[in-house]
Amino acid sequence: MSLFRLYTRVLELLGKETRLAIILAVANLILAAAQFAEPVLFGRIVDVLSSTTAQSAWPLLGAWVAFGLFTMAAGAAVALHSDRLAHRQRQAVLSSYFEHILQLPLTFHTGTHSGRLMKVMVNGTDALWRLWLGFFREHFAAILSVIVLLPLSLVVNWRLAILLFLLCIVFTAITTFVVRKTYGMQSQVEEHYSDLSARASDAIGNIALVQSFVRVEAEVQGLRFLADNLLSAQMPVLSWWALVTIITKASTTLTVLAIFTLGIALHQQGLTSVGEIVMFVSFATILIQKLEQVVAFVNNLFMEAPKLQEFFKVLDQVPAVHDRADAIDVGRLAGLVEFHDVTFSYDGKRSAVADLSFSALPGQTIALVGPTGAGKSTAIALLHRAFDPQSGFIKIDGMDVRGLKLAALRRNIGVVFQEALLFNRSIADNLRVGRPDATEEDLRKAATRAQALEFIERAEHGFDTNVGERGRLLSGGERQRLSIARALLKDPPILILDEATSALDAVTEAKVNAALDEVMKGRTTFVIAHRLSTIRHATRILLFENGRVIESGTFDELVAKGGRFSELARAQFMLQGAQQPGTQKPESGAAAVQA
Ligand code: ADP
Repeated sequence: MSLFRLYTRVLELLGKETRLAIILAVANLILAAAQFAEPVLFGRIVDVLSSTTAQSAWPLLGAWVAFGLFTMAAGAAVALHSDRLAHRQRQAVLSSYFEHILQLPLTFHTGTHSGRLMKVMVNGTDALWRLWLGFFREHFAAILSVIVLLPLSLVVNWRLAILLFLLCIVFTAITTFVVRKTYGMQSQVEEHYSDLSARASDAIGNIALVQSFVRVEAEVQGLRFLADNLLSAQMPVLSWWALVTIITKASTTLTVLAIFTLGIALHQQGLTSVGEIVMFVSFATILIQKLEQVVAFVNNLFMEAPKLQEFFKVLDQVPAVHDRADAIDVGRLAGLVEFHDVTFSYDGKRSAVADLSFSALPGQTIALVGPTGAGKSTAIALLHRAFDPQSGFIKIDGMDVRGLKLAALRRNIGVVFQEALLFNRSIADNLRVGRPDATEEDLRKAATRAQALEFIERAEHGFDTNVGERGRLLSGGERQRLSIARALLKDPPILILDEATSALDAVTEAKVNAALDEVMKGRTTFVIAHRLSTIRHATRILLFENGRVIESGTFDELVAKGGRFSELARAQFMLQGAQQPGTQKPESGAAAVQA
């Protein structure tokens, strides 16, 4: 994206404040124009004082004072409103950026570190804020002043004006050269900044790991290494811009000296008055000041550009799925789910699921089993429209899911994640994620059914106990039961259980299983499980391999069939039987396998 395009996007983000922004910019322009009254009056006063006529300088001085007061008062008002506007709009853009990233598909988030996203959000909006402020206060007026002043200086004295034109050419040439030279470098610097943020937040997020593996030193070293890379990328850019400052300052001084020299020579030939020289020097000073502002603006924009590029890159990411214009807002669904020849590929080459067809009647439990990478999670992701299939379709209650409003669809589907995801908020707040208007009584009921009440009541502040970042202050089983209680509160007709009981000890697993039985009642449930003991009662088991269902049937049917599933079952039950005899329930299926 060119600097110009980038800057227009920055201004476009002013959104509904655009009108006020234009008013402020124009007000600033008028203020800038009012500044010219000063050199004109100054020159006049000098001419009046040095002339032999009896004209009084007082009225001119009075006008000067009036102008001065006006520009001061108006300037303060414009600055205040610009400041307020820029702060307001920064928060507005920050909120919409936040909303935007929350809507981006999970695949985007798995590929982008949260620390980086935070940094892009904070730095990007800061950069916007600075550029907006600059726009109202200086940039717009400065650029227009230069455009107006240059031709005007020709009218005042074309001989002296040539010097100003030369100065402009020097400024433009140097700035353009250095921008070209350092543009790529500054982008790299920004990359380093992002790496640094991602690395730091990664280490802080894994603090237990860092401390237990005595990695404090190593992590700090790692960060220092990144910081060193950053500095060595930043230094040359700073040197180049220091050079710009030196050259522009030197040319400015030279220009003013040249104006004086030429002015004196012209005066000796009677081609100009002393007042005109004074006027022109003041004039040149303003022009130079504006030119310097323009260069500073280009420099600012240049330094902010990579931050803004990153910001816009995230902003330009599109959510994988949208509401169709004619999408309908359904209420509570019954939970009849049908997959028809569903095919989906992440990369457009290899299918993650292929020709998938199955159906689940309301209240049935469908288990998805198979090796890692077989396509189970993808199939479920398609159900709640994390993605849409490339071919085939999925229907709920006879309606294509793509025809439903996304929010309505997801309200009807509850998920108990493999890793119970909890906010760093109170237990009650976490449960209310399931139903924001749940009463305390509702919370207690759900907690009871999810076998969670006992530990909640034991906690120091009961339902008001904070669970810590990602629920760190609770045990795995407790987190899991909270997430089940949350799903119970949501009370969806369709439920997804993603390996909900993995990584739990036998006693906790028994509790969580009891909670799960409770939450599954009367819902169409999809269970993704590696542990076959958890899906013994499933209405139907689908065995996935390479994105396809290779066997399907009840537990007993599949075991009796003697295919791939029975091999898996035999291997798992023999292992589990040896390790955890207590967890075995002596049921027909297991008996058949063990026999
Ligand atoms: P399972 O849940 O059975 O372990 P998945 O549905 O996660 O299987 O994966 C199915 C296939 O899709 C695998 O080959 C996996 O590598 C691929 N896959 C899964 N998620 C992504 C993703 N976000 N981007 C690209 N490929 C993916």
